[in-house]
Amino acid sequence: MLKESALSPADAVYRATIPAGDYWMHVVKAGQTLRIVDSDGNQAADTLFYAAADPAERYSASDTIREQGNVYLGVGSVLMSQDCNPMLEIVADTVGRHDTLGGACATESNTVRYALDKKTMHACRDSYLLALAENDQYGLTKRDLAHNINFFMNVPITSEGGLTFADGMSGPGKYVEMRALMDVIVLISNCPQLNNPCNAYNPTPVEVLVWGE
Ligand SMILES: [Zn+2]
Repeated sequence: MLKESALSPADAVYRATIPAGDYWMHVVKAGQTLRIVDSDGNQAADTLFYAAADPAERYSASDTIREQGNVYLGVGSVLMSQDCNPMLEIVADTVGRHDTLGGACATESNTVRYALDKKTMHACRDSYLLALAENDQYGLTKRDLAHNINFFMNVPITSEGGLTFADGMSGPGKYVEMRALMDVIVLISNCPQLNNPCNAYNPTPVEVLVWGE
């Protein structure tokens, strides 16, 4: 279901651009609304959420999928923690498809999926590790990097039950918006992947906006 937001960017209390291939780590408070904008289209925003009060509690793909009975995310999806607490709810979406299963790209997956000489190419997992190292005030380490959401990414499930990477359904300016139900640490890797069509082989910027006190 597609649903536009009534919020105006002019009223946002925070606004930032995540350059292509970079990361963004920020606390969004309970009651605030976070919008992620696919500025140029066909980008993938690999996203993790942690409870700010206790970062050992984090977004759980399996609990979210089970509770909503759907592997894709959209308006009305409630993002659950591994303790089965609701963390955020998607309240607006102009894309219609967000992936829960594909995971984040890594140098290891680059070698398995593409070629051995792709090992040194920049990958989301490297951005995540850099984010944790540069933001050690949260006390997060490599072991906290659990399964992520791929906002804007289209990973259809085939009739045989496999996964494929497909051209995105997103486009320039399309966005997804969610209301925080607890204080959350948001960690986004704006995917630098150059080997599959998740970002049209051309990583582009993503914008983030926050509304509310
Ligand atoms: Zn990636």
